[in-house]
Amino acid sequence: MAFRVVLLGAPGAGKGTQAKFLASDQGIVHVSTGDMLREAVAAGTALGKKVEQIINAGQLVPDDVMVDIIAERIGKTDAANGFILDGFPRTVPQAEALDALLTKLGKPLTHVLLFDVTEEAVLRRLANRQAVESRADDSVEVQRERLRVYREKTAPLVDFYQRQKRLTKIDASGDIDAVRKETAARF
Ligand code: AMP
Repeated sequence: MAFRVVLLGAPGAGKGTQAKFLASDQGIVHVSTGDMLREAVAAGTALGKKVEQIINAGQLVPDDVMVDIIAERIGKTDAANGFILDGFPRTVPQAEALDALLTKLGKPLTHVLLFDVTEEAVLRRLANRQAVESRADDSVEVQRERLRVYREKTAPLVDFYQRQKRLTKIDASGDIDAVRKETAARF
């Protein structure tokens, strides 16, 4: 089955971890815009140079840039059998552009999953990730900014997809295996 999935949730909610499980369980591609951008930065491409400061400040890359990246990625042959979007959309205009793109392709989203977790748990997980991965955008100040940006720009997507009657909430406060089981039960 070609599932076309959007994962929503605050930074640190566990989207990336669960996206990897889901991708291997369902045999569909995991599209992480954060990973794609970090790869561009590491490779020193024009895109990488353009976005590095933005990422390191915890801000969002402009919508038009992101929509182009996603349109190209979704158009690749490996995405024809389905995909999991992890980190996109992050704003209402991105969500609208995604809807327009998928409607044109005649391939609407099949799942929008919200990984629901308290802010306290998110801060605890981000602190752990900082210790393990030492990502440039995981300093305490940048984490706070990323959460602020999430609340302001991305959280409105919960309403956006709820109005479309597409949103499924997953309790993401449990351990990794429990969340994996709850997620798998939606497919
Ligand atoms: P992530 O790994 O998903 O937390 O993404 C890391 C950073 O990449 C974010 O803090 C943003 O700066 C940038 N980014 C990733 N996806 C998007 C997006 N859909 N829109 C804007 N910026 C993004």
